[in-house]
Amino acid sequence: MGHEKPVEIGVIGAGHLGRYHIECLQRIEGFSLIGFFDVDPLRVKEINEKYDVPSFDDISSLLKAVDAVCIVTPTITHFDLALEVIKAGKHIFIEKPLTDLPDTSRKLADALATTGLVGRVGHVERYNPAFVAAQNMGIDKPVFIEAHRLAPFNVRGMDVPVIMDLMIHDIDLVLSMVDSEVDHIEANGVGVAGKSADICNARITFKNDTVANLTASRISLKQMRKLRLFQRDQYMAIDFLNHEVQVVKLFHAEPTDMLTMQLDLPDGTRWIAADNPTVEKHNAIEQELREFNDAIQHNSQKGVTFEQGARAVEVASGIMEQIMKHEK
Ligand code: NAD
Repeated sequence: MGHEKPVEIGVIGAGHLGRYHIECLQRIEGFSLIGFFDVDPLRVKEINEKYDVPSFDDISSLLKAVDAVCIVTPTITHFDLALEVIKAGKHIFIEKPLTDLPDTSRKLADALATTGLVGRVGHVERYNPAFVAAQNMGIDKPVFIEAHRLAPFNVRGMDVPVIMDLMIHDIDLVLSMVDSEVDHIEANGVGVAGKSADICNARITFKNDTVANLTASRISLKQMRKLRLFQRDQYMAIDFLNHEVQVVKLFHAEPTDMLTMQLDLPDGTRWIAADNPTVEKHNAIEQELREFNDAIQHNSQKGVTFEQGARAVEVASGIMEQIMKHEK
């Protein structure tokens, strides 16, 4: 550790999010940021002025100079770009969603699997400090998950329906917590600002009977990113925006270190306690990129794989199919 050669990396797409990738990559000692490529000359100029990072004139010259890239371009460009990167034999970190369609996501996951390359998808909410704190409290076989992800209108992300832009975060979180196949999906949605859905609700039922009820909107007046779940003897509320977690737990023996409420039930006494675990602050994008580095340098299996990224897109597409059925 610490003595090996840093991974030489480039960024493709230096827009709103690409800028944060550049900042994080400059801070991570395991990476050496070689440069970036963006199709917009105005954006190239802005980034050149702000950061000490060379720009490349085209993708192929950037690819020749690096071992790995971050793809941070609009979703509809992901497939072609990622395929080019895989063909050039470079490791890829790609922003979520992997692509906009299940068949192209599957093709990328399959193409990557035939190489020894590392591929990771930027499902950054898995690294959200509140979610990490909740996981440390023990998320274990939730039977019901409810998520609300509401955002004010923003023209960025409008290239894909709200399911692919926002709900995909919760789809990935749910898939990471539920160890079962999807049984069926019910969904409703409407387009308000554009033709594709801007508000959507989906109820996903898994084969093990777990239910996930997801709501996403990108034409909301206020922001909200909350996920609640319950599992045997425990309820959790996770606030991704304010980085807060609340846990309510049922005990069969009285805990000594918590304030409890006693329940005298016919079959014995139980105790309920509420806890707000400390949420350790960290930069989630930096964290996921550090894991990407660890996967390249030390073969770590952590991080969201292309396989998992493809599965999230497949479920998202199942939701969109249900919405289209109602539109007919
Ligand atoms: P953006 O429009 O701000 O930036 C995209 C940049 O890519 C622009 O500068 C554009 O000029 C450039 N670009 C477009 N086509 C290109 C190409 N072929 N080659 C090189 N550069 C190209 O968009 P954004 O908000 O930064 O989103 C980019 C990606 O990040 C999307 O896939 C989006 O879903 C994802 N995203 C993820 C999160 C998250 O929470 N993880 C948040 C926002 C966006």
